[in-house]
Parts: sequence; structure tokens; C-alpha cells
Amino acid sequence: MTSTGERLALLGGTPAITRPLPHEIWPPRAEEAELTALAAQRNDDISIRGSSGPVRELEDAFRAFLDDQVRWAVTFNSGTSALFAAYFALGVREDVEVVGPALTYHAALSPVHALRGEVVLADIDPLTRGIDPQALEAAITERTKVVTVVHQWGHPCDMDAVMRIAERHGLRVLEDCSHAHGSRYKGRLCGTFGDAAVFSLQANKAVFAGEGGILVTNDAGVHDRATLLGHYRDRCREEITDAALRDHWVTGFGLKLRMSPFNAIVALHSLAAFPERKEARHSALRYFGERLAEVDYIEPVHVGEDVDMGAWYGYKPLFLPEALPGVTRKQLITALRAEGMEIGAPSGPRLSTLPLYASAESPLFPGTPKHANVAAPGTAAERVEQQALSLPTFNDWPADKELIDAYIEAFQKIGRHRDALAGHARDDG
Ligand SMILES: *Cc1c(COP(=O)(O)O)cnc(C)c1O
Repeated sequence: MTSTGERLALLGGTPAITRPLPHEIWPPRAEEAELTALAAQRNDDISIRGSSGPVRELEDAFRAFLDDQVRWAVTFNSGTSALFAAYFALGVREDVEVVGPALTYHAALSPVHALRGEVVLADIDPLTRGIDPQALEAAITERTKVVTVVHQWGHPCDMDAVMRIAERHGLRVLEDCSHAHGSRYKGRLCGTFGDAAVFSLQANKAVFAGEGGILVTNDAGVHDRATLLGHYRDRCREEITDAALRDHWVTGFGLKLRMSPFNAIVALHSLAAFPERKEARHSALRYFGERLAEVDYIEPVHVGEDVDMGAWYGYKPLFLPEALPGVTRKQLITALRAEGMEIGAPSGPRLSTLPLYASAESPLFPGTPKHANVAAPGTAAERVEQQALSLPTFNDWPADKELIDAYIEAFQKIGRHRDALAGHARDDG
């Protein structure tokens, strides 16, 4: 106990944060216009055969959202389906390797396995949290055909370096922009650098359909093959550019992965509201980042010189255990939760710890050997996995300023009582 009588909430004191949970409320509720459009669609058309209605509107709006820098935007029923189509269209198949980041959401790379391709994981850059260009280059073999970059938490990857390496080795580049709707690298939008880009529109994402994904490309071959994989009939007859491929318009390549019109309507409304929501989130997180720099046991989220904004889709600063001796991340989280904070450890592990990536034999095609990714110690991916803290993204600015100040006060309170917390942790085992 200090002279003020202040005590950690964990040890019976009063919590520093009084606002009840949840503090991150997402996705936002629909307004009347969206509900009306959904109801009208019910009696108009509950399926969409070609690219028409809200599906067409969404694809057109998405191209405009990307500054008209992409020729094609093709919707899918999920980001994972769009990624599957992208890998197929980029030529992933047996004996083809895809290099991707060691720590990201698994779906960025998982579809490679269904195409009999192999994923080779490369370490991340601890600052951008995206693929480390040096590690990428070291992972390239004569079988590598594609590099996948994920603009993790909305912070763009070092795209100058990635594009230089891809060019040098004749690789195709796939951008997973599921965290990076509207993020810019040197003023240029994420999703306009690679041979193809995919944006998930799942409910957690900044632009959301509920379930959905969208693939964008300027490459006619990628467009044709990705479209044929997940769509068939009218849309393929009208839009496939290559005459020989167009012969398959009746069947496509056998799958149906298209988006429902209801999801397209939700996405259209969320896309229209996005610029304002993004500004609010950016303002709140800029302020949060500045204030977090005052906390001596937290490494705030990095904001690169080449980007308009650092991480904003998810906010995951690092815990510095050497500054809080005797306290683990888990114990810190427990103490901060007692203070009323919405905080946790990020849920996604290094991909090399998951059997789909680690196994030396394909679980999908038994008897087929595959590249076994080993969870190497001492990597940046391991450090980030073990030290990151997951915090709310604060969507309501300036209303959330007060809440952010309370968060900083809770962090500082733990700092003032670090000896008491370490003592409690020791007694607790
Ligand atoms: C959400 C997400 C996906 C998968 O998208 P779904 O729409 O959920 O299938 C892929 N990659 C990343 C980085 C994601 O965050």
C-alpha cells in the first residue's frame, strides 16, 4: 500500500477504469437505410446470377475505393475463398512453394495446402509485424513462385523491398489486405502493389459484409482463372477475357464461391461509412500510442516513416518483461483486467506451431511429403507472439479520450505497484 492508500484492484483496491465492458464495440449496428435495402432485396432477388445488383455495385464501389488503380474486383463468399482463388490463379500447385510470414492469421496461407502447394514461413519484421524482406529472400528456392505479404494490423509491409526481391527472383506477389483497407505505403494504397490482392470482409474487419471477401487485380490471367474457380454461367460468359478460358463459362472450374446479395448490401453500407470511422480510429489510436510511450514497461506500436498510419485494425503493443521483474505477461493481464481493462494475449499462434504447417506429410493428401515448418527459437515472430498485448481499437473519437486516459492510468498504477504485483505473483506460484 502506498501513502495515498491506493491499492491494486487485484489486491482488493478500487479499479482504475470504471466504464463497464465491452470497450470495443464492433461491428457497428446498421442504420435504417441498410435495413431497408436488405428487406427490399428479399423480394427483389435472393440470389445473383451474374455480376448485377448489389454485387456489381460493391465491386464498382471497391474499385473506386482503391483510387481506380485496379482493373478488376471480384467478390467471394469469404476472404479465405478469395485467397484460395488467388493462389489457384497465381499458379500454386504441386511442387510450388509460397513464402509467407511466420506470424499472421492462418487463412492468409492455409488455402495453399488444398492446392497441393507448400508454405515456407519466413520471420517477421518486429516493427511492421509483416514479412521481413531479408528472411523472405533467404527462404526462396527454385520452387518458389509466390510471396504472400500480410499488412498486419493495418501497418503496410516494406513494399519497396518486397517488390525488388520479387522482381529479382521472378516471383508473383499476393497482398493479403484483410487488415489494411485504406492503408497507404508512400501514399499508395495497399492492394495496388502485387499481382493480386485480397480483402476479407468478415464481420471483424474494418470494411465488413458479415461474411465475404474481394479479390482485386490488374492481371487479365489472374482475373480469368480466379473468377472461373468460384463463379460460373452468366458472369463467366460476359467477363472472362481469354476466349479459350471462356469456353468453360457454363461450369467454371467446378466450384461456387460467390457472395450473396445480402452480404454485398452490408458491405456497401460499411464501405460508405468507412472513411469517417477510419479517421475516428486513427485519431484515437494516435493519441493512445502517444500516451503509451509514457509507460516504461510497454513498447508502443511502431509507426513507420513511409506510412500514413501504423497498426489500426488491431492494436498490439509489446510487454517488456525486463521492466517488470517477476511478472509474467499472463499475470500482468490478470492485474490489468482487475483494473477494468479489456486486454488479452493475441489469439493467433505462430503458424509453425499448427499441425497443418508443421507436419512433414500432407494431412489432406496422405502419403504426400511436404515442407515441415519448424518453430525456431529466437525469432522476431516468437518474441511478438509471447510479448504482445491485445487492446481495444477505440472507434468512438473524441468520446473515447476519457477511456484511453483511464487505460493509461491503469498501466501507470501497475507500474507504481510493480513490487507488490511481483510479490503477489511469487506467492501465487
Ligand atoms: C480475416 C482474415 C482472413 C480470412 O478472411 P475470412 O473472410 O474470415 O475468410 C485472411 N487473412 C487475414 C490476414 C485475415 O485477417
